[in-house]
Amino acid sequence: MENKEKISNVENVVIIGSGPAGYTAAIYAARANLQPLLVTGFNSGGIPGGQLMTTTFVENYPGFPDGVLGPELMDLMKAQAERWGTNLYESDVVSINTDSHPFELKTLEGTIKSNSIIIATGASANRLGVINEDKFWSKGISACAICDGATPQFRGEELAVIGGGDSACEEAAYLTKYGSKVHLIVRSEKLRASAAMVDRVKANPKIEIHWNTKVDKADGSEWLERIETIHSQEGKGEINIKGLFYAIGHTPNTKFLGNKIDLDNKGYIACKSGRPETSIEGIFAAGDVVDSEWRQGVTAAGTGCMAALATERWLAEKNLAKTIVRETPEPEKKLNSSDFNEEEVNEDTFDSNSEWQKGSYALRKLYIDKDQDIAKQAGINGTPTVQLFKEKLLKKQWQGVKQRSEFKEAIKNII
Ligand code: NAP
Repeated sequence: MENKEKISNVENVVIIGSGPAGYTAAIYAARANLQPLLVTGFNSGGIPGGQLMTTTFVENYPGFPDGVLGPELMDLMKAQAERWGTNLYESDVVSINTDSHPFELKTLEGTIKSNSIIIATGASANRLGVINEDKFWSKGISACAICDGATPQFRGEELAVIGGGDSACEEAAYLTKYGSKVHLIVRSEKLRASAAMVDRVKANPKIEIHWNTKVDKADGSEWLERIETIHSQEGKGEINIKGLFYAIGHTPNTKFLGNKIDLDNKGYIACKSGRPETSIEGIFAAGDVVDSEWRQGVTAAGTGCMAALATERWLAEKNLAKTIVRETPEPEKKLNSSDFNEEEVNEDTFDSNSEWQKGSYALRKLYIDKDQDIAKQAGINGTPTVQLFKEKLLKKQWQGVKQRSEFKEAIKNII
């Protein structure tokens, strides 16, 4: 947790989740002088920052006429929330106790007490459960083309994406940068993605759409080599591929709630239509964890705002709000505008001799493209990968986002 002075041992409001809903709720609650505590999540609901962290360009978030990279948008929201006094806590909430008030939130490190809670834990990518899925997970099968697409093993190979929504179409188009061909496997005879996305996929000569097709089995020796498919009329088939990417929707992250809060029949938090109040007074919800229908960054941000305003009203009504007094009405600006105005490097502007290069293109180029053999030999199948060496020997490897304390513990153990 950041070392900002706390108002008391009981928080005004704990916001769980660091996607657009969580950060927007934090911005509003912080500007209401409530000094919110935002538990970012780090593992159980995907990576901190939510689903936009695994997206490339977001072209439909208002205010960015040329689009904005998902991770950059989340950095901006985070900076804004922190600037107004949000405290960030890097952990997962594992359970909440709603039997007494203040509520108790159990995290991986300890317990937090709070007068109110905003749940903005979002939704996680689904797995399909094909035969041999576990065997080839991270060895050809992935749920995130944007994170893993640049892996050397996928270069110049045939790849496949399963799904027919915006994610599947976006990922299929993205993977054509790396693979020789991308098979888009759709279980029905239509794509449910937006019209612009469908047009983009259909116009791409490197994408072949397989309609009415399901994947049954993954196969290969050490790495994925082929999938077995079933076509609704033509029966069994086989496609040789080195990469299989799932884009088959999401499940709301509500497991940590147990049966404390009412859920709807799809497992999303049940709120009255258009309202952020949950079945427990003082607990509010926002974003994809309540929304099985719209699921956009901008709708999540909108409901995050509503949840914060409702929380502020509720705390005031119950006379529970302990507000901070600011020394200056406007907090110091967090960022030089130049930090974000600096251009992302791309294929044309990348300079391998430069000390500082901005953006995910540069990261992948330096660590995976430029030294592809090194990445391959070192068994790096995706980003982020962290390897810990001592005296030139690999001691430990992590794939995916991990908590800082895990790295510290491992380093402590080997020195
Ligand atoms: P989605 O819209 O729920 O689509 C999931 C797709 O997976 C559907 O085509 C579905 O098939 C298919 N599917 C589900 N279970 C399957 C199974 N067991 N086997 C085979 N296929 C299966 O999910 P999404 O694409 O992740 O999009 C979620 C939300 O985010 C949407 O609102 C979308 O507009 C938004 N989004 C926007 C952007 C963007 O604007 N850049 C990018 C990504 C996502 P059926 O169609 O047959 O049900």
